Amino acid sequence: MTAPILRSLAELRTKTTEWHRAGDVIGVVPTMGALHEGHLSLAQAANDSCDRVIVTIFVNPKQFNNPEDLANYPRTEHEDAQKLAPYGVDAIYVPDPQEIYPDGFSTTVSVTGLTDMMEGPFRPGHFEGVATVVAKLFLQTQADRAYFGEKDYQQLLVVRRMARDLDIPIKVVGCPTVREPSGLAMSSRNLLLSPEGVKVASRMNEIMRRVAEKLAAGKDFEGLAQDAKSALLDTGFTEVEYIDLRCAETLESLPNASKPARLFVTAWADGVRLIDNIPVDPV
Ligand code: AMP
Repeated sequence: MTAPILRSLAELRTKTTEWHRAGDVIGVVPTMGALHEGHLSLAQAANDSCDRVIVTIFVNPKQFNNPEDLANYPRTEHEDAQKLAPYGVDAIYVPDPQEIYPDGFSTTVSVTGLTDMMEGPFRPGHFEGVATVVAKLFLQTQADRAYFGEKDYQQLLVVRRMARDLDIPIKVVGCPTVREPSGLAMSSRNLLLSPEGVKVASRMNEIMRRVAEKLAAGKDFEGLAQDAKSALLDTGFTEVEYIDLRCAETLESLPNASKPARLFVTAWADGVRLIDNIPVDPV
């Protein structure tokens, strides 16, 4: 059975108030829709550890720095509701835009530090858009736990910091990236790739894993990053925006894997910007 779709905050609050009164733990999975198995794994994780699960679908205009990207973003609400049916979701919150950004909306949530690197400089305003909408969704749903993908690792840390700094009483849970058999991280953007583009994109993870293995064997990152960049360009990527090795907790740049780290890559293939990251075991 598909979960009820709620479009107003009043309807949502009626449900959440009832659930909290009954002592239920509420989990929320924020998404922008066009759901794939990555999103569904978050619903599964929420269902495994919460009594009630809310999936939110809101294509947030404030986090797009490119208006064309926003206009082209797939909107597949009906299919999304069908896909969620087996996951024991109690409500799908698809807020009317007025519920999120009422007339005269004037508040921005901005997380400094963690947003100064990687996606931050490449996507001005993106993390402010994310932090603002996620703060609203946390407060609107009054959820006890929130589920985010490690696929967007920097976003996961930004959201966790935001909730902590603002004393929003919610536990932010990170979930592993779901991949195609080739290793390609699932993403709604993969739909924009031609068959040839898929082949190119599918090589990214293998190249990253080779770097991670050498890092785990004690090699320095600098030379490996150069080799990986060349390998990506040779494979058919048209541009590599960044390859970074960073501390898994603070995102500080690391010269080698002396502590738990993540390897981050953002590169363009077939006109599509692809991002991925993997854990690197410390030496
Ligand atoms: P989006 O709808 O793209 O904003 O993503 C909503 C949530 O799904 C975010 O927490 C993402 O990190 C997560 N997500 C996206 N792709 C994947 C994936 N391949 N595996 C796990 N989580 C994912």
